[in-house]
Amino acid sequence: MDPIGKSIRKLSGGDFEKRFEALIQDVLRDGRIQAFLTENKDVTRDQVERHLSDLFQYKKEWDNCDHCPGLDLCPNLMKGYQPSLSMQREDIQISYHPCQLKRRADERKRQASFIKSLYIPKEIVAVTFDDIDEDNESRIEAIAKAMQFSHETVPGETGRGLYITGSFGVGKTYLMGAVSNALAEREIESMIIYTPDFFRELKQGINDGTYQDKLDMVKRAPVLILDDIGAETMSAWVRDDILGALLQYRMMEKLPTVFTSNYDMNELEAHLSYTNRGGVENIEELKAKRIMERIRHLNEEVTMTGENKRRF
Ligand code: ADP
Ligand code: MG
Repeated sequence: MDPIGKSIRKLSGGDFEKRFEALIQDVLRDGRIQAFLTENKDVTRDQVERHLSDLFQYKKEWDNCDHCPGLDLCPNLMKGYQPSLSMQREDIQISYHPCQLKRRADERKRQASFIKSLYIPKEIVAVTFDDIDEDNESRIEAIAKAMQFSHETVPGETGRGLYITGSFGVGKTYLMGAVSNALAEREIESMIIYTPDFFRELKQGINDGTYQDKLDMVKRAPVLILDDIGAETMSAWVRDDILGALLQYRMMEKLPTVFTSNYDMNELEAHLSYTNRGGVENIEELKAKRIMERIRHLNEEVTMTGENKRRF
């Protein structure tokens, strides 16, 4: 079959020919297309002409990706998809695959549909360290430590994390949004869990049979962010069977955990000592100490102070 290019050229005048040639040269100048042609030396000029619109589309979409405005504003033909070129039955083939942002958003949705206490409110999902103002020294320290952690941690190699303490509204959760996004830029997956909801959810999970899967998913997160630990009602079961087991696993696997809390470490230890069983208060200081030993060993305590940033 005659390539379309040739047929059209026969039909139209020289001006078209010039424009067509310019288009071809434009496409052939593209770095990615050049790389493809270098890898596939058998590609003929006819094939390039026949697939000119595919190649043009390929170039255009990758140009979009090079100036990515974020997934929501993705201008590609299929939002969140990038083209790739391959040779199929000795012909050029264009296909589409989800980009890194799309894959991450899908993964988050998948996890969030399963784990309800997973945090993904819009206001913290998009936060970066650039958004965070350093209005006093203790904030600067917390932000600097969080930034250093986000840039340096290697899950599986070091289980070292942080323990950010500070009063209600100073911006601990907000900061965790920036941590999660900075980690994502290094392609490190993280989960921000609202701890009181998570413990409640696990309790319900015992009845509906999802307990083990939920616990497993969270305990295996490359970086786990336990937001607002200490805000939950403590029970021996939560402390020993959930928190204790989860931290034990993460310590063995060298997976870092970041905590945020209104309590400092000493206060959290006291909180973990008091449990309630059937209306009877128990004080189990030793068990609390054991858990705190793990947390103290691996997590640096950083105090964050400042004004309450909550507007309502
Ligand atoms: P905490 O978790 O310490 O109680 P949050 O992170 O929830 O505090 O912050 C309280 C409120 O202030 C939230 O509405 C959050 O969006 C906002 N906020 C926190 N830090 C900042 C910041 N650096 N810049 C702008 N808004 C912020
Ligand atoms: Mg918070």
